[in-house]
Amino acid sequence: MKPVSNTPDWVLAALETRRQEDLMRRTITLDSPQIPHTQIDSQQYTAFCSNDYLGLANHPTLIKAMHSTAEIYGVGGGSSHLVCGHLAPHQRLEEALADWLGYERVMLFSTGYMANLGVISALADKHRPVVQDKLNHASLIDGALLAQAPLRRYLHADVASAERLLAKSTSSGLLVTDGVFSMDGDVAPLAELSKLASQHDWMFMVDDAHGLGCFGENGRGCLSLAGLDSVSLPILVGTFGKAFGTAGAFVATSHDYADYLTQFARPYVYTTAMSPAMAGATLASLQLIQSAEGQERRDRLARHIAYFRQRVEALPVELMPSATAIQPIVIGDSAAAIQVSEKLKSLGIWCTAIRPPTVPTGRARLRITLSAAHSDEDLVLLCDSLERVLTANV
Ligand SMILES: *Cc1c(COP(=O)(O)O)cnc(C)c1O
Repeated sequence: MKPVSNTPDWVLAALETRRQEDLMRRTITLDSPQIPHTQIDSQQYTAFCSNDYLGLANHPTLIKAMHSTAEIYGVGGGSSHLVCGHLAPHQRLEEALADWLGYERVMLFSTGYMANLGVISALADKHRPVVQDKLNHASLIDGALLAQAPLRRYLHADVASAERLLAKSTSSGLLVTDGVFSMDGDVAPLAELSKLASQHDWMFMVDDAHGLGCFGENGRGCLSLAGLDSVSLPILVGTFGKAFGTAGAFVATSHDYADYLTQFARPYVYTTAMSPAMAGATLASLQLIQSAEGQERRDRLARHIAYFRQRVEALPVELMPSATAIQPIVIGDSAAAIQVSEKLKSLGIWCTAIRPPTVPTGRARLRITLSAAHSDEDLVLLCDSLERVLTANV
């Protein structure tokens, strides 16, 4: 059949450029749950690139909670939170999250991307600038664009660089950072940034997508690690798609900010509430994260991280300085990163190469992520395979 296409030339040209630069992205279908043992094209792989850090995405307790909530409240949100989509499971989840983290209020969002768009676009504008870390997540950058606010970025994790930007600004605004950087795995200097924001009378916001659930007292992530609270960190965003193993996101904040966001955060107002069944599963996940089983999972994850670093530090590669579940190995060139990823695949290891524009040019990497769902044997297989592939390469 002759293909019928009226695709504009510029679309085809953009695709061709991506192909030539080894930057073409495509989706891959899994015929199994997330991790650790996935099935793709009838082949078995041990996956090391999922954000399911605690191994909860396929946990029987969450599956059961999703079923039982759906039986009572249904599957669909039905409308936005403000019309008639805010059901009892949403309210229970918001209250439990607020208790866990020590905030007056929590508001749910359908995704982390939308939470960041919503909060930043409501709090910043032409006269209230946004200052953020150079390596912040795309959704934080896009929030500032949606706000049409002046956007300035400081050198990665560099408090002095952030201070220069705040000092130079004629009006006060919003200082925002990732808690754990998603492609690097390091933690932002949160206590110092919080102090800086309050000295300059700026609002301070942290997106802790990769910290919550994974470490800190009771799994409270960066908040606990940096010794912050609802006063020193007034706006905290968390997501459910990572350690929680479900989907959706939230902002933890004060009554005043929450009331304000309820009026002015357009990605909150004009979208359907998350599925109540998902809220039920997420509440079960939160209870698990706070339980002894949650602590055991965090401990196992920490042991995996220590073992992995000890093995890979002995190899002739650039292992990034990270103490979290995100353990990137920088390869550099995009084609080389794909090659390493393919070689690992032939040894039964699934780890997608991360390339520009997600990471800076020349910094393509294997973004290896570890999970409590991995066994000790999985870790040995990963490290043995890396040793074979990476030492043969140099
Ligand atoms: C994944 C991620 C998001 C987006 O969250 P989703 O719920 O997947 O939309 C936001 N911020 C950071 C730092 C992330 O890593």
